[in-house]
Amino acid sequence: MTLYQSVHELVGGTPLVALQAFPLPAGVKLLAKCEFLNPGGSVKDRLGEKFVSAALASGKLTKGGTIIEPTAGNTGIGIALAAIGKGIHVIFCVPDKFSVEKQQLMRALGAKVVQTPSDLGMAGAVAKAKQLAAQIPGSYVPNQFANKLNPAAYFETLGPEIWNDLNGHVDVFVAGAGSGGTFTGTADYLKKMNPLIRTVVVEPEGSILNGGAPAPHRTEGIGMDFIPSFVKTKYFDKIYTVSDRDAFRRLREAAKGEGLLIGSSSGAALHAALLEAQSAAPGTNIVVLFPDSSERYLSQGIYETEEETMKETHTR
Ligand code: PMP
Repeated sequence: MTLYQSVHELVGGTPLVALQAFPLPAGVKLLAKCEFLNPGGSVKDRLGEKFVSAALASGKLTKGGTIIEPTAGNTGIGIALAAIGKGIHVIFCVPDKFSVEKQQLMRALGAKVVQTPSDLGMAGAVAKAKQLAAQIPGSYVPNQFANKLNPAAYFETLGPEIWNDLNGHVDVFVAGAGSGGTFTGTADYLKKMNPLIRTVVVEPEGSILNGGAPAPHRTEGIGMDFIPSFVKTKYFDKIYTVSDRDAFRRLREAAKGEGLLIGSSSGAALHAALLEAQSAAPGTNIVVLFPDSSERYLSQGIYETEEETMKETHTR
């Protein structure tokens, strides 16, 4: 048995599980990377560790300093977790429509949450973070939307894990994009190991990757209204635009059929992965990323009937 020295050592090393309940063509495997099993409950714990350790190592942050970040929630939870025991203050700027559970978890981990108006989108949260940083001495804004450490965190950890989990037998990688860091960093690593690996990106309706106009959607954590400069669009071998209805239907099916309690961005990725599977040749291994769990969205009634959930207010 391994004795872990702190919560920081629990980040990463998540399991890959073969899905059983969904009909697949003969010889095709659908393998879910369970990022919701990270200690802070999402894929973004990897980014939090990277941002905090890099900032302390480079001197951008010193003890007593303050890390400030615009976030929809999971990056905040990841950063707050990474800051535990490091003697730094943590402030997040969060558009006010994002999940209350995530805001509660950020506060539970010692962070201060500053809400910004949701109609200003993530850009409003970014502007607020910059404004606070100008006022608070010793502060640092990593800004996940403009920081190359974002894809680097996944290039260094998630990509190698997926490759090693399957001894290199990866054929397709499917993941959603919010900042695009997870997708870009992981795709970058996998393509470097084998350029024939197909990397497929997932967005909700109301995101711009397939040429659509920005619009509200309920699927939380993915969707872009601008493309950060570190995103390598050449890795978009296919872009799936998934409706909220399909994303939420799949998360309910994953709970009942697989016992996996996944959030809506995972549901969207699952829907895209199932479409990929339809045209896959026998022997194809499709890896789908499940970034977080349903438990941080229960207040939104995500396991209620479709009619009930669809009545809920829209978030970006
Ligand atoms: N799913 C969820 C639930 C998320 O919170 C995020 C991060 N916003 C993503 C997917 C997408 O991750 P990335 O920002 O790396 O594209």
